[in-house]
Amino acid sequence: MLNIQSKLPGVSTTIFSVMSKLAAEHNAINLSQGFPDYACDPALTELVSKAMKDGFNQYAPMPGNNLLKETIAKKVENLYHIKYNPDTEITVTAGGTQAIFTALAAIINPGDEVIIFEPAYDSYAPTIKLLGGLVKTYELAPPDYGIDWDMVKKLFTSSTRMIILNSPQNPTGSILSEDDMRSLIKLINGTDILILSDEVYEHLIYDGQKHQSVMLFPELRERSFVVASFGKLLHATGWKLGYCLAPELLTKEFRKVHQFNVFSVNSPMQEAIANYLKESKHYTGITQFFQDKRDYFRRLIADTRLELLPCNGSYFQCVSYSNISDEKDTDFSMRLIKDFGVATIPVSAFYQKSTDHKIIRFCFAKENTTLALAAEKLKNV
Ligand code: PMP
Ligand code: GLN
Repeated sequence: MLNIQSKLPGVSTTIFSVMSKLAAEHNAINLSQGFPDYACDPALTELVSKAMKDGFNQYAPMPGNNLLKETIAKKVENLYHIKYNPDTEITVTAGGTQAIFTALAAIINPGDEVIIFEPAYDSYAPTIKLLGGLVKTYELAPPDYGIDWDMVKKLFTSSTRMIILNSPQNPTGSILSEDDMRSLIKLINGTDILILSDEVYEHLIYDGQKHQSVMLFPELRERSFVVASFGKLLHATGWKLGYCLAPELLTKEFRKVHQFNVFSVNSPMQEAIANYLKESKHYTGITQFFQDKRDYFRRLIADTRLELLPCNGSYFQCVSYSNISDEKDTDFSMRLIKDFGVATIPVSAFYQKSTDHKIIRFCFAKENTTLALAAEKLKNV
């Protein structure tokens, strides 16, 4: 027997793979892993075929297809009135997850501390640990999952290197307000702390609320890696394409890692996305589209015994089942799959420490018929 020393001894297969596999095995409606069950725009897939026919079949430039980087710069300028230089400040990545990994790998040395807000997207903590960094956790409290910045400050030490933000947040659907951003600015003023701002759900923000991107605040922008995902924007999570925006100084470090991590990413899809996004109409309707889905799903869930938590953003809806059962959330989710035919994510999976608030997460990026069918089953719970 080979004796290998695991670099991540406490880590097993991600909850997303586990739940999607169980959903398939039990023929359950899969509202667990976050991905749409409807097709992306056929015009977009046509553009991929065209790019392949047009010969975009060899390596793209290392930092990304030039047209795509320019298109991203224009989109960002349209939305936030901020200019990022396509040559020196924008890098196309193999999805948001690679951008997160690469930004952390570029910055974190053994012993550096990174502050994260839990429940958190499950790649943050293992990536930090893999790099020899230390995870400092701020625990968000349901139902609102707000942040007390004075308590965040208590986590600061001389080794604090980075803070990871995620707004709109996965899994809680909470968002950061302008006040949050101003508090953060005060906190990091005079420090060298960097920010990794995971903004993959930037468009999925509801009820007229404004996405408070770190880009909008010069004091934050100058020290931030901003991560975005075309998977969310284009209803094409399987394409695994995204990007990272960062000032030149940070982008230089990012690309030092990126070039050896993946070198460059899928060429025909980059060309296709660039041509597709030249027309901004392809993303202006996305907020309303998902708000309608959120509202529809919340109305359906209101007819069950599950208790809705707030959802201000993302395509996730959390619910409490504490009035139904005191089972562990992992057991309750298993029972939902096996006995009721609906797959969800137990929110304890988004914490490192064992933390069970009796809350599960649904993904509502699904056809309304799928959501209605799931709700019919959930009425029996
Ligand atoms: N960050 C968050 C918060 C996410 O939910 C996801 C999920 N898919 C990602 C990053 C990664 O996006 P991608 O699929 O583009 O890697
Ligand atoms: N972000 C998606 C979710 O939270 C899935 C990402 C993944 O499967 N790695 O469900």
